Amino acid sequence: MRLAVRGIPTVHAHQLRAGGPDANGQPALRRVAQGLANPCRHCLQLIPEGEQKLVLAYRPFEQAQPYAEVGPIFLHAGECPRYDADALPTWFAYLTPAVIRGYGHDDWIRYETGAVVSGDELTAACRTILANPEVAYVHIRSKFNCFQCRVERG
Ligand SMILES: [Zn+2]
Repeated sequence: MRLAVRGIPTVHAHQLRAGGPDANGQPALRRVAQGLANPCRHCLQLIPEGEQKLVLAYRPFEQAQPYAEVGPIFLHAGECPRYDADALPTWFAYLTPAVIRGYGHDDWIRYETGAVVSGDELTAACRTILANPEVAYVHIRSKFNCFQCRVERG
């Protein structure tokens, strides 16, 4: 099965960089990236230490509903290209442990799909979960419940 892996919509990144409200109705905070674990959820690349990043609350769902979790994410403060590929970024192998789960076409969690896996198991886990026709897409999160990306069938 081919995968379709994308960063958050470019229109969201533009709105947030322009000072638009995050999922809590507040403008994104601007900070200097420290350490090596500052993934941008638009380009799905790591923000180099010392560069400006945005810190904000993100809800990776179109509509608010009971399963539409909000969590903290980072974005490059400046422009970057949206990630759009048939594979996870290679650095996801170090996203250990990772939290993965599938959502139905109604955007509700499919409970049988939830798992905590090591980063190098994520691709196989995506394929296994997406083999279930009742699953519309997968979300990958960090152990801190930070949304990483959405994965669909390619
Ligand atoms: Zn970026």
